[in-house]
Amino acid sequence: MPGSNPTLNDILFNGDYEFIDLTYPFDKNTIYWPNAESFAFTRKNEAFGSDGAWYAANNFAAGEHGGTHIDAPYHFQVNGIRVGALPLDKLIVPLIIADISSKVNDDPTFVLQKYHLDNMLNDNFGKPCVIVFKFGWSKFFNDRKKYLGIQPNGTLNFPGLSAEVAEWITSSYKNIVGIGVDTASVDPGSSIDYPVHKIASAAGLYNLENVKLDESVPDYGCTALILPMKIALGSGAPLRIVAICPKQIPTHF
Ligand SMILES: [Zn+2]
Repeated sequence: MPGSNPTLNDILFNGDYEFIDLTYPFDKNTIYWPNAESFAFTRKNEAFGSDGAWYAANNFAAGEHGGTHIDAPYHFQVNGIRVGALPLDKLIVPLIIADISSKVNDDPTFVLQKYHLDNMLNDNFGKPCVIVFKFGWSKFFNDRKKYLGIQPNGTLNFPGLSAEVAEWITSSYKNIVGIGVDTASVDPGSSIDYPVHKIASAAGLYNLENVKLDESVPDYGCTALILPMKIALGSGAPLRIVAICPKQIPTHF
């Protein structure tokens, strides 16, 4: 009816919004942590029957923590929420992209410190949001050795957050419900004690890892749809994450 309030469908499908997929495909090239079970896709039934009708139904198996995925708080907290119990109002939220790729400058030893963000997070976040840090690492996803920074002794080396930044986010930015990265872990690849995982999960935050950021996404103004597979008891799960972005970027968060 003219003059009535637009519905969500009116807003999303009038051509003023676009959908950006922030998810890597799951296939034989999907990057998993070295000791994790990789994505296994098994062709089971894919054939034309004697009646000429096509039928396809296959199997898959995988570790929880590979490719684009979510870490539920239970990953590092015995009493943390499991992935199947994450509430939708923490999964469909405003999306903040913190693009620090020019500071990282392809350095796998880069560790994000608070001073890197001093001019970035000074907005007054009024609503729940997820913040995804863009280290500029998605361009290496097709080169597993480079992406993970696999060293001759088997250790890993790629950029990540410092414990200080995790403490700062969880203590100063109470509206942030999750932390995302375009690398394999929120902790730097060289970490052996995973302080960012521990601090974030203790505060009830989830992590999004291997977020695909190889095309430009506005720093703010988009809504994230974060839809992990609803594995009831999971510590994490494969994730489909999509940004819904207005073509006219708003001038404020
Ligand atoms: Zn994980």
